[in-house]
Amino acid sequence: MQGNQCCCHEQLMMIRQRLIYIYFAGTGLALFWIFVNFGTWCEDNSDYLELEKKKVQLLQQKTDTQRLEIDVLKRLNDDTKLDLTRAEKKLNSLVINNNKDIPVIYLITPTHGRLEQKADLTRLSYTLRLVPNIHWIIVEDLSRKSDLVTNFLANCKLPYTHLFVATPDNYKLKEKDPNWLKPRGVLQRNKGLQWLRNQTGVTGVVYFADDDNTYDLRIFEEMRYTQRVSVWPVGLVGDLKYESPKLRNKKVVGWHTYWKPERKFAMDMAGFAINARLLLEHPRAEFRMTAGRGNLESDLLTQLGVEWSDLEPRAEDCTKVLVWHTRTEKSSLKNEGKMKTYYNTSSDINIEV
Ligand code: UDP
Ligand code: MN
Repeated sequence: MQGNQCCCHEQLMMIRQRLIYIYFAGTGLALFWIFVNFGTWCEDNSDYLELEKKKVQLLQQKTDTQRLEIDVLKRLNDDTKLDLTRAEKKLNSLVINNNKDIPVIYLITPTHGRLEQKADLTRLSYTLRLVPNIHWIIVEDLSRKSDLVTNFLANCKLPYTHLFVATPDNYKLKEKDPNWLKPRGVLQRNKGLQWLRNQTGVTGVVYFADDDNTYDLRIFEEMRYTQRVSVWPVGLVGDLKYESPKLRNKKVVGWHTYWKPERKFAMDMAGFAINARLLLEHPRAEFRMTAGRGNLESDLLTQLGVEWSDLEPRAEDCTKVLVWHTRTEKSSLKNEGKMKTYYNTSSDINIEV
């Protein structure tokens, strides 16, 4: 019995001893671990605190900057309003005090309904607002006046005449047709010419200004004193950087163009202006659907009895591009359908674009 008790006691003592070892070893390891990591913790902590401080500073700065930005924007906005009113007044006075002593420029613009129509017309009208003594003849390719163009013109602050004539379906380009396949704006330009001929006492210059081209204001002053037909280069046309009359001794002797340089007047619509008198003297001259590809312009000038020697080169002897045959990219509406499918909503049809 005693032997058993002794054995039990020894075993207990051994377990206690082991527990003490484990305790000290564990504490030692823990202390060692704390010792090793102590430096890092201190660093991290200080960094962390530093970062926090910086963050607070940055947030503070950010709100200051934002506040400043809002202030600046507000002031800018007020200034802009003032400037716009001033600019508006200046423009209005330009139009109202049109100098009647200088020849009128009649601009004939065919226009057709498309997504980008209002954007193109807006851009063109803002250019035209800066040109004194013009009359804008805008001819819609439609069997009636559209509300969009009617309202647009009512607010465009330009002297204008609103006409319309629809191109018959068989002469219209189809969705996938290349643009050269059929001439565009033919009947509309003729409608403009017809209107001009029906007015009494028309004098001045006639220019065919497509609605998507880009015009340097100086081109209008270049054409204003046209005697018969004035000519100049057109940028970004005919798959070239520009097309232009070719001159020798300041006289036209040919054409810088790739497409049929043998045409008598190998020019784009944007590259010439005509004295109105010439159009009145040839009351039947008009653009013809039958003229052939790229030949509308040449065909009209031929009907007007124009010769190369009549042509008046402008834009510094045809060395400057002051008008560009830009074309507006077709806008995609592919997400309109997706809006319906995924969000069961769509663009408000009452918002005019
Ligand atoms: N145009 C038109 N009906 C049409 C296509 C065009 O009246 O079916 C107008 C158009 O708005 C522009 C001119 O005719 O003022 C020339 O058309 P477009 O700009 O499409 O021709 P491109 O730039 O290819 O010469
Ligand atoms: Mn165009």
